[in-house]
Amino acid sequence: MTTDLKQFEAWFITGSQHLYGEETLRSVAEHSAQISKALNESSEIPVKIVFKPTVKTAEEIYKICQEANVTKNCIGIIAWMHTFSPAKMWIGGLKILQKPLVHLHTQFNRDIPWSTMDMDFMNLNQSAHGDREFGFIMSRMRINRKVIAGHWEDPQVREGLNTWLRAAAGWYDLQGAKFARFGDNMRNVAVTEGDKVEAEIKFGYSVNTYGIGDLVQVINQSLDSDIDNLVKEYADQYLLAESLVKGGSQHQSLREAAKIEIGLRNFLQAGQFKGFTDTFEDLHGMLQLPGIAVQRLMRDGYGFAGEGDWKTAALVRTMKVMGSGLAGGNAFMEDYTYHFEPGNSFVLGSHMLEVDESIASGPIRCEIHPLGIGGKADPVRLVFDAAAGPALNASVVDMGNRFRLLVNVVDPVEAKYELPKLPVARVLWKPQPDMKTGCAAWIYAGGAHHTCYSQNLTAEHLNDFANIAGLEYVSIDEHTNLNQFRNELKWNEVYYQSHTH
Ligand code: MN
Repeated sequence: MTTDLKQFEAWFITGSQHLYGEETLRSVAEHSAQISKALNESSEIPVKIVFKPTVKTAEEIYKICQEANVTKNCIGIIAWMHTFSPAKMWIGGLKILQKPLVHLHTQFNRDIPWSTMDMDFMNLNQSAHGDREFGFIMSRMRINRKVIAGHWEDPQVREGLNTWLRAAAGWYDLQGAKFARFGDNMRNVAVTEGDKVEAEIKFGYSVNTYGIGDLVQVINQSLDSDIDNLVKEYADQYLLAESLVKGGSQHQSLREAAKIEIGLRNFLQAGQFKGFTDTFEDLHGMLQLPGIAVQRLMRDGYGFAGEGDWKTAALVRTMKVMGSGLAGGNAFMEDYTYHFEPGNSFVLGSHMLEVDESIASGPIRCEIHPLGIGGKADPVRLVFDAAAGPALNASVVDMGNRFRLLVNVVDPVEAKYELPKLPVARVLWKPQPDMKTGCAAWIYAGGAHHTCYSQNLTAEHLNDFANIAGLEYVSIDEHTNLNQFRNELKWNEVYYQSHTH
């Protein structure tokens, strides 16, 4: 299950003024309608693009911003000044606008029509200076936005819009989203802690706690017939370990895992949660840690992170929505252990159980093994390798006076190594720009060991999301220079002393 992004809409709003006369305004409207239709029909644009009549006065601008704020499923505004739209008219509207805005700095015609161009043409096609006027007021008002410059038929321009619209969809999905927290943070762990009140103000989602006993009660209400069906589904979809098949010595454990999945799913559906977190230190009444249940719930679009890490759970959910419909997955991940072979260093990422099925490549095995911590019965889990291809890790860090979104672009390593004694799903990657610089930069930035690992989002998606949400954005990529990076972190400290929101 991925989110259907076509349920969301972005409004295409063109600014102008009455100075030009009816005929010019008619052409402006026709051109905007044509661009908006082309974008709406483009396979590169993931959401509906809704054409809006040209705004020409302060009143019209205020009204459309007001409407955008309250319109359900409107995830943002694409603004373009075909002609000159004196920007003092925009102040009132922009002051109340609560939806994200992308400034499409384009022009209807691609080329200058050298032999026919006259003054009328010049007056009509003047976004080169109309958009500068609009840009000034956005900068003057310190409004976060993305500026995409170029002709509207240019594939790079469409890709820029696609990326921003996905970030806006992820943001929209988070507004009012509910996350369930079973138990508290893993005892004494720092990086997974954070300010839930500030997170609700900043990100728009809420995190509230539920007693594990309440969940256990729902789990215990699972019907035998539903357990029969789910166990059959496991057998159809995965390669079951011999002991888990019907008649096998541990088949009862598989039934117990199915029972947990049914209960957890029912609990989340009943409460309309978009994600959850649990902790192995508080599972009273459960026979196993939820392994396969969590893996499959993540596959189905729920955000999750272990050990009480609600920040990462919410990030996983957002990134899943942003990547909806794209090949590859977004998954809760943990930097686990290193391979420091000279010239061929990499990270092995995994988690003790809960690695998302959506990033799997090749056959998925369903196995049961002891866990070593938690003091529960052996949990059933899915074991697989992750697909290769470009990827990144993202982490939200609570810095006390702000949230930092940290991204590291990584190059996955083909899983040619057998791991006969490691019964968990895993993925291998090389951090950019290189192992030593990438790891050191991540640690300087205070990035968590918990991340969301993405196979289908780029750093630009995360950057756009950070801009919409007003987060500090720090990226580690092929251009990262450690000294420069450390300076950037120091400069950001100064910035956030004066900008706490
Ligand atoms: Mn962990």
